[in-house]
Amino acid sequence: MTIPKSNKGIGYIRRSSHKQLDNHSIEIQKREIEIRAKAEGYEIIQWCIDDAVSAYRKTAADRPAMRELFMYIINNEADAVFFYEESRIDRTFNSFVTQIYNPIKALKPNCKFFCTTVSGEWDAHNTITEMKLLFAGQESIIKSKRTKDTQNGLLAKKIRPGSRTPFGYKKVIVDKETGYKTFIPDENAPIVLLIFYLSSWGYSNEKIAKLLNECNVPSPTGNGWHENTIDAILHRYIYAGHLTWNVRKSAHSSSRKPKEEINLIENVYEPIVPPHLWHLVNEMRELKKQTKQFDTPFYLRGIAYCKNCGISLKTKVDTPSKSAKKYMKYVCPNCKQKIDMDAVHEIVFKRFSTQWTQQFYKMRSHAQRLLLQ
Ligand SMILES: [Zn+2]
Repeated sequence: MTIPKSNKGIGYIRRSSHKQLDNHSIEIQKREIEIRAKAEGYEIIQWCIDDAVSAYRKTAADRPAMRELFMYIINNEADAVFFYEESRIDRTFNSFVTQIYNPIKALKPNCKFFCTTVSGEWDAHNTITEMKLLFAGQESIIKSKRTKDTQNGLLAKKIRPGSRTPFGYKKVIVDKETGYKTFIPDENAPIVLLIFYLSSWGYSNEKIAKLLNECNVPSPTGNGWHENTIDAILHRYIYAGHLTWNVRKSAHSSSRKPKEEINLIENVYEPIVPPHLWHLVNEMRELKKQTKQFDTPFYLRGIAYCKNCGISLKTKVDTPSKSAKKYMKYVCPNCKQKIDMDAVHEIVFKRFSTQWTQQFYKMRSHAQRLLLQ
């Protein structure tokens, strides 16, 4: 028996993101690859590991370790590739073959591929291999469908499929026999409520985050408050007591789908935010989209119009170089007429306050009449 001289090989390992569905641990794959490499007379000089990476959602060229592997071979650092079995390299049927295998074989015809479950060299274009790749792909489609079906089954029973408990809630078991769980507000619920109140007063997400950090209010991650954390909380329907699912656009994107496209089941949990406040915050958000900014001394921005031109007034701050005083003005972008900010505010607010008091009494008696009816 001749002992082959030691050549250099690359070990490719992948562990999927579905740890519970997949028992291909990194250690098992490593051990099997090492045994095989030794038997073929190779030394593994580099491990390329895609951990928690789906080969179903990501094609071979989209996986970082697979790209690394490709570069090692192309740069002549090794001339063999070892992997555990077909399901590790691909779940899309052909992306590994078309994006990695064929290009390597074209550039480096001497590079060899080995699979620990296949004797001899692994050939991507052999019928049995093609069938195995097909099965690996099929299996993922089934797994993915099974996960979705399980989730839909739970949603039909108004049960939220397992995921992280939202900030401000804690999980409690309601029914010991069925294991039915629900969320009830915990000690952080008042923080959620405070965030909604601050938002309803017109504070920006950035300001709210700053305020909470200054007061050392505990944050969901323990890493402090950020604009995005506030934004995420203000968008969660669960705080109004509703169950939602399929909120994110995709597994890779955290951006939210439009309301019509998400699964929403109303009044499942004890709400943290009362309906009127929830409504107010949402109305404010819509208004903010139109006026861009609330935190401005120009209170009438976006709602004051030029009487002659009928278009919305722009705002302008003139600060002459030698003057300490700021000149704040509303300007018509069409006829260029300017008017002092304070002067307009005084007139408008005076009129508003007299009319509002009258309106308020009218509204109150109207509401009383309605209630009596
Ligand atoms: Zn004008």
